[in-house]
Amino acid sequence: MGARLVTFAAIMENVKCLIIGSGPAGYTAAIYAARAGLKPVMYTGPQPGGQLMITNDVENYPGYPEGRMGPEMMEDFRRQAERFETDIRNEMITKVDFSGPIHKVWTEGGHEIHTPAVIIATGASAKWLGIPGEDRLQNAGVSACAVCDGFFYRKQVVAIVGAGDTAAEESTYLAKICSEVHLLVRRDEMRASKIMQERVLNTPNLIVHWNTEAKEVLGQDVVEGIRIINNKTGETSVLNVTGFFVAIGHQPNTGIFADWLNQDESGYLIATPGRTLTNIPGVFACGDAQDKIYRQAVTAAGTGCMAALDAERYLVEHGY
Ligand code: NDP
Repeated sequence: MGARLVTFAAIMENVKCLIIGSGPAGYTAAIYAARAGLKPVMYTGPQPGGQLMITNDVENYPGYPEGRMGPEMMEDFRRQAERFETDIRNEMITKVDFSGPIHKVWTEGGHEIHTPAVIIATGASAKWLGIPGEDRLQNAGVSACAVCDGFFYRKQVVAIVGAGDTAAEESTYLAKICSEVHLLVRRDEMRASKIMQERVLNTPNLIVHWNTEAKEVLGQDVVEGIRIINNKTGETSVLNVTGFFVAIGHQPNTGIFADWLNQDESGYLIATPGRTLTNIPGVFACGDAQDKIYRQAVTAAGTGCMAALDAERYLVEHGY
């Protein structure tokens, strides 16, 4: 009986401010929350550091004039959050209950946390095609972010897959940097908005391949080409490219919140415009989990700061 009571006490914990996720949004929220005395506890999730852990050079984050490797930058973020005594735990949150003013959250190990303030910074994951070579050559010519990596392919020939607004936007962005861009569209039409499609079709060095799918990424150590197939005729060919961009959408990591928080049709959390407030008082959303438009490290960090300030204000107003 005594032993059971001890076990129970050991798996319950009260926390003033809980942060879920450890990309630029989560770490920035931690830095602000910690400096405001909220003693934040952060659960990093399955990929500590988030999407930047799978990028090479980050050259567009202000304050790093020489650029910084994605993993090194996230180590900087982590050290800064730890300097102000954020309690960082490399574990995953698997369940939440936002039914009361005190929110309940469970870790994969069964640890139960009670907290009045939760900051969600779980991010989003790029969708991949799952074709041979794609995984092996990531960061060696394969990328899911043209804005992040396009610069490394200036004056080169690249290919990009997708037919939505992201593919339209990223392909026209790449066309400004690269000598030639091949956009692979699997159907005979694009899903992107009309204006974006017009931009694609009016860009001279942007070549659209309709009814075309990528079957394999070729190259030993770096991307050297793409094997493509015309799914109408069955004809296969090789495109000689040095960069291969995948722009077929992102999946926000918000599944565990679906029963509680308002989400759009793709699963992105809906926050009050210009704020980080969700439909549940004391639960705040920041970073890519609530942003399908910008998706940049610096914008994620900005909303992470906002979430910590919103949480701090909420805690003061509610007497915590
Ligand atoms: P979408 O889900 O809109 O589009 C994904 C595209 O990828 C589709 O065209 C789909 O083709 C294609 N696709 C999916 N799987 C494969 C595959 N295996 N092989 C080849 N092609 C594939 O994602 P986006 O990221 O483009 O956009 C997400 C949301 O964000 C949208 O609501 C969009 O409007 C919005 N957005 C808005 C922007 C803006 O306003 N500036 C900028 C960027 C995004 P198919 O059409 O055949 O299904």
